[in-house]
Amino acid sequence: MRKRITILGSTGSIGTQALQVLEKLGDKFEVAALSAGNNVDLLSEQIKKFNPQKVCVQSEKSAEVIQGRFKNLQVCFGDNGLQELCSDTSNDIILVAVSGKIGLKPTLTAIKNHIDIALANKETLVMAGDIVMKEAEKNGVKILPVDSEHSAIHQCLTNKNGLKRLIITASGGPFLNKSSEEMQKATVEQALAHPRWDMGKKITIDSATLMNKGLEVIEAHHLFNVDYDDIKTVVHPQSVVHSAVEYKDGSVIAQLGLPSMHIPIQYAICYPERIEGIKTNSFDFAEIAKLTFEEPDFEKFPLLKLAIECGRKGGSYTVCLNAADEEAVLAFLDGKISLGQIAEIVEEMIKNHKSVSNPDIDKIFEIDNIVRTETKKLIKEKYSK
Ligand code: MG
Repeated sequence: MRKRITILGSTGSIGTQALQVLEKLGDKFEVAALSAGNNVDLLSEQIKKFNPQKVCVQSEKSAEVIQGRFKNLQVCFGDNGLQELCSDTSNDIILVAVSGKIGLKPTLTAIKNHIDIALANKETLVMAGDIVMKEAEKNGVKILPVDSEHSAIHQCLTNKNGLKRLIITASGGPFLNKSSEEMQKATVEQALAHPRWDMGKKITIDSATLMNKGLEVIEAHHLFNVDYDDIKTVVHPQSVVHSAVEYKDGSVIAQLGLPSMHIPIQYAICYPERIEGIKTNSFDFAEIAKLTFEEPDFEKFPLLKLAIECGRKGGSYTVCLNAADEEAVLAFLDGKISLGQIAEIVEEMIKNHKSVSNPDIDKIFEIDNIVRTETKKLIKEKYSK
């Protein structure tokens, strides 16, 4: 039977790759709806190719443009539009590939409507992991991770009772072999030049500071219900071992593959089936020849340590972490601060944060807003070049 899928964020990095996967999977899937920001030209191409029944765009203006081009298409926009897409119970699965906090509420709506989620949005679990996982369990909804590390763990974690710990790999980003000083004053271009993965800008900067790995540890804690003490990170520059699970009997099961997001995207949307999709070359151990591993340098990458600490502390610390980091990354991309100052700014925001325990969704958004405003103020008053 054909599965009906909706993609939130269809014109982004994960969204476009997901559509490449769907193209190869032919009639196994039917695209129910697509959502995009304001890239109406790319969205128009996608509409022609995948023929969704509904689309959602960010602004009313973009909605008018799309409606003008496709008279019979149902077009909606904004937060309400996303909610509408996620309330459509004819969906079998929704791929949440938008970036930022905009992904959180629609994901919860889909969960409440018993629709399975392929999750590529970090904020959903970093900001509200407790709430989201509880709702998923209550509604019998699967949260299928798209991120390569969590996909790997999902594939390796076949016996939860025998689990000893999770081992999350990190490529180390573009500054792995550079000195702290070089990293601190890196240009935007250098920070965006990730050696292994081609991703959106925010996540690429987070990968350069290893904040991304810290956020992934928080996500793994929620997704797999594993204590922070039992999650280890290891630097693995080749990005071939995507993560591993160590069992109590001493066995370690790792998932390997060439660094391509097509594989974890397809695994999530086709789960539990494994089928041929986008052709990948056969995995050649001899050609890869050498895989290396090393401990992460927590001093050079203080955000990795800080993120894990925030996860451990719980409350609203991860909400603050996420909001402060995003504002600081934007300021770096805007040329207002240096790369090294991202960590300083986030550390200061965390130090001054008054955590709220068990915040509900409204409280989470309220805290998110306050932290963003205060982070911008801090950047303007203390750091702006
Ligand atoms: Mg990842």
